[in-house]
Amino acid sequence: MQSIGRVVDADTVPRVSQRARALGLMSVTDVKLAVLRQQPVWWHGSQYHCPVCETDFTNPGSAAAHTIADQHPVLRMD
Ligand SMILES: [Zn+2]
Repeated sequence: MQSIGRVVDADTVPRVSQRARALGLMSVTDVKLAVLRQQPVWWHGSQYHCPVCETDFTNPGSAAAHTIADQHPVLRMD
């Protein structure tokens, strides 16, 4: 029986949510860079999304708390 080989990406690239990928963010690193770019206006949003565990937030306070508690980059979505 022939080996079909290993899908390297599945093991080495951390998964991000469909919503993040729709924005062109394919890895956690991409998301972190996007969050850095959002930093000046990040606190003024009303919709936030964590692409790592696919959780949504409706205020910056809980989004920031999630970033600190779980070390996930949370994107502002609005
Ligand atoms: Zn998360």
